[in-house]
Amino acid sequence: MSRKKLIAANWKMYKTPDETKRFFADFLPLVSAHDRDEMVVCPPFVDLHVALECVRGERIGIGAQNLYWKSEGAFTGEVSSAMLVALGCTHVIIGHSERRQYFGETDDTVNLKLKAALEHGLTPIVCVGEVLEEREAGLTEDVLRRQCVRAFHALSARKAEALVIAYEPVWAIGTGKTATPKIASEAHILIRGEAAKAFGEQFASQLRILYGGSVKPENSSALMAEPEIDGALVGGASLDPKSFAAIVKY
Ligand code: PEP
Repeated sequence: MSRKKLIAANWKMYKTPDETKRFFADFLPLVSAHDRDEMVVCPPFVDLHVALECVRGERIGIGAQNLYWKSEGAFTGEVSSAMLVALGCTHVIIGHSERRQYFGETDDTVNLKLKAALEHGLTPIVCVGEVLEEREAGLTEDVLRRQCVRAFHALSARKAEALVIAYEPVWAIGTGKTATPKIASEAHILIRGEAAKAFGEQFASQLRILYGGSVKPENSSALMAEPEIDGALVGGASLDPKSFAAIVKY
């Protein structure tokens, strides 16, 4: 069955509210006639409000880069899924490798965040992927299996309906090294297999699995041509309106 591709921008910790306004002023005219795929931009928390105003009436969703799994409480510095929904966000990135690497996120916190996002009606983009040492040691399959099994724990196909996965080999993030379409496809097939075990074949056949890791205008067409690749999660190249527009229009 055909899956609508999703092209998502992860701005990481870049851009102020003014820079966000400038980005959309340049970006929107470049993609105004483009409705082939779904588009989402995930800026830092402080830019969400401005970003939502900029895309009002446009076919672009706005997502956060993280959330906390409790709805509210004494959790200084955290932001809940309920808050993101109240603001108008539709998507959220969960378990990005930079959060796993620098901020202590684990497969278990990814599971808690995923459940919270789904309960509040957000579309979660759950990131999985192996580091270079794991790939070189032949552990890619084990790592991806473990990340999927733990992320999907105690979820049903009905609850997980909105789930999106991003396969992001950590060695390809921000390094300029891109996984070949073949490497990405192999990982996507494995992830889809894990989704089938957890949620059934029907669910797995509809699950969107994005590729992320140094996606650029020059390599986006080849990656997006792979039947197993259902879109892209784009970091560095999404910060420039022209380059992100070129990727969206691969
Ligand atoms: C990312 O931040 O999710 C990412 C894939 O980054 P980059 O495109 O810069 O490799």
